[in-house]
Amino acid sequence: MRVARFAGEDDPQFGVVGDEDGVPTIAVLKGDPLYAGFELTGQKVPLDDVRLLAPVIPRSKVVGVGRNYAAHAAELGNDVPERPLVFLKPNTTVVGPGDPVVHPDQSEDVQFEGELAVVIGRICKDVSAEDAPKVIFGYTVGNDVTARDLQHSDGQWARAKGFDTFCPLGPWIETNLDPADLRVSTELNGEQRQDGRTSDMVFSVADVIEYVSSFMTLLPGDVILTGTPEGVGRMVAGDRVSVTVEGIGTLTNQVVPHD
Ligand code: ZN
Repeated sequence: MRVARFAGEDDPQFGVVGDEDGVPTIAVLKGDPLYAGFELTGQKVPLDDVRLLAPVIPRSKVVGVGRNYAAHAAELGNDVPERPLVFLKPNTTVVGPGDPVVHPDQSEDVQFEGELAVVIGRICKDVSAEDAPKVIFGYTVGNDVTARDLQHSDGQWARAKGFDTFCPLGPWIETNLDPADLRVSTELNGEQRQDGRTSDMVFSVADVIEYVSSFMTLLPGDVILTGTPEGVGRMVAGDRVSVTVEGIGTLTNQVVPHD
């Protein structure tokens, strides 16, 4: 099932993406399914008529995993870590499909990182890898936008990973997906730049959930970015970046200059 969040008349609404006589359609839900379950209102709207929003705004955190693909760690001159290397992005980084990514004037090297994103479905702590599927609501596509120069110069990653608009998510959450071996690819201005598979992750989704939940409580709506394959690169204002994860869809955003 694909769960989308979209701009309603007043507040954002949620719905299930489907098909009505060959037309992509959203069946509108009563409230946020993370908390309210899947109760339909009976209303349906054509997918093309709505503006999709980030499918989730994490209540507490976006957890990132660094260097989780060996070839990407190597391209930046890093070793693969012994345990997941985690960092946080504030929830104010999150934007939706089609939203602009603002290029900060503090950086001269803003880069895309196409990633599989995991949406947590329930409050949890000390989850074993075996039990990890029980706490997952679904999966979406993420772009872990990173100011690479600031990541190196700061040491700490809060600024490099934490600018407003540095975490595009979308286009929706797929709730029924096996994350073990999915293609993750990124195009910049229509040219393929990243092409990896989640089977090449150093630490699997389940391993990452076990590790992260061993030291912090995860809440419904928290998002885990699972790391990026090789091929990361620079984006400048005007560039259009599209990340595709097999079985979910494509997330496209354009970089705009800071004003
Ligand atoms: Zn990343």
